[in-house]
Amino acid sequence: AQVERMSQQYTTSNNITYVTQPKDQLLRAAMVALVRNSELDGMRATVRQVDDRFNRRFGYPYIFLNDEDFSEEFMKGMREITDAPIYFGKLPADHWGLSEYVNETKVHEMLAYNKGRYIYGGSYSYRLMCRYQSGFIHKHPLLANLDYYWRIEPGVTYFCDMPYDPFKYMKDNNLVYGFTITPMEKALTVETLWETTRKWMLENPQHLPEESFIKWAVNDKSEYTLCHFWSNFEIVDLSFYRSKAYESYFQHLDRAGGFFYERWGDAPVHSIAAAMLLRKEQLHWFEDVGYHHPGYTHCPNDSSMASRCVCSRSDSYMYRSVCNHRLSSLGNINKQQALELAGLP
Ligand code: GDP
Ligand code: MN
Repeated sequence: AQVERMSQQYTTSNNITYVTQPKDQLLRAAMVALVRNSELDGMRATVRQVDDRFNRRFGYPYIFLNDEDFSEEFMKGMREITDAPIYFGKLPADHWGLSEYVNETKVHEMLAYNKGRYIYGGSYSYRLMCRYQSGFIHKHPLLANLDYYWRIEPGVTYFCDMPYDPFKYMKDNNLVYGFTITPMEKALTVETLWETTRKWMLENPQHLPEESFIKWAVNDKSEYTLCHFWSNFEIVDLSFYRSKAYESYFQHLDRAGGFFYERWGDAPVHSIAAAMLLRKEQLHWFEDVGYHHPGYTHCPNDSSMASRCVCSRSDSYMYRSVCNHRLSSLGNINKQQALELAGLP
């Protein structure tokens, strides 16, 4: 059932103040998922949670994207589970496929070589997915009118009520990139990612900001720390991905071939870009988003969150995450220092 949008705010007996937003005050924002027809059940489960936790009071649209046509069954199944507006889109063919810069024979050799080295090491489609989410998702026509997106995935868990509008929070606080979990990447999947990034920085200093948080991603020995924001949840000001700097960086990475020859993920790519091109104050840890995706769980440990969350507070990766500690202990450096980290003599 549709919620009544009469009241702007109400407080429950266990002291959570829920804000609602009249439809005409919603931001230009949506929940976006790249998803396969076969993931209908998991996608329904995620959407139901996002609605229950947050979106039933707001009614932001859901956008589902697929490299294939969505089946009638998928579309019907999704429409049944939510009242929010839903859009289904197919990817433009030139956004999903082998990059023109890579050698197909070498791609197959490297898939065979990497197959046993790490998860998805031999998967071609996984690489198309990572490249798509790195360089193309923000260009999909269905996202053209959006200022923010919140990426969702099938089969994840949202543990906590979100009583306010996170898009509005991002906007009001001039935030660009929001995350909930920051783990370390498997080194073998990104063997030359920093080396390639470094070159881009040295060749494109005009794209670097006067101050950045790059130290989070790169240690004093000029090595990638493997820290990244887990992009299966991310709330992002899309003007960041649409910026000239980000596009130039993506093109440079694409030319280098590592999306295929290695297995560069969209998470480390987004994260290195965020650290390199943004200031710490533009990043936001949504600590209050209790979240599980296979592999890691975050559960807020603040006792005031107990009435909002249904997770076990002893069970949170984020309070022992090395990358989260780096995040709180480090600050911005200036452009000259960033270039020196990248190897400027
Ligand atoms: P993991 O989280 O790294 O294990 O990767 P996932 O399998 O969860 O994939 C990340 C996201 O991309 C999920 O939302 C998937 O539904 C989606 N995805 C992955 N591969 C494909 C694909 O080949 N086609 C489509 N349409 N979506 C995909
Ligand atoms: Mn996933």
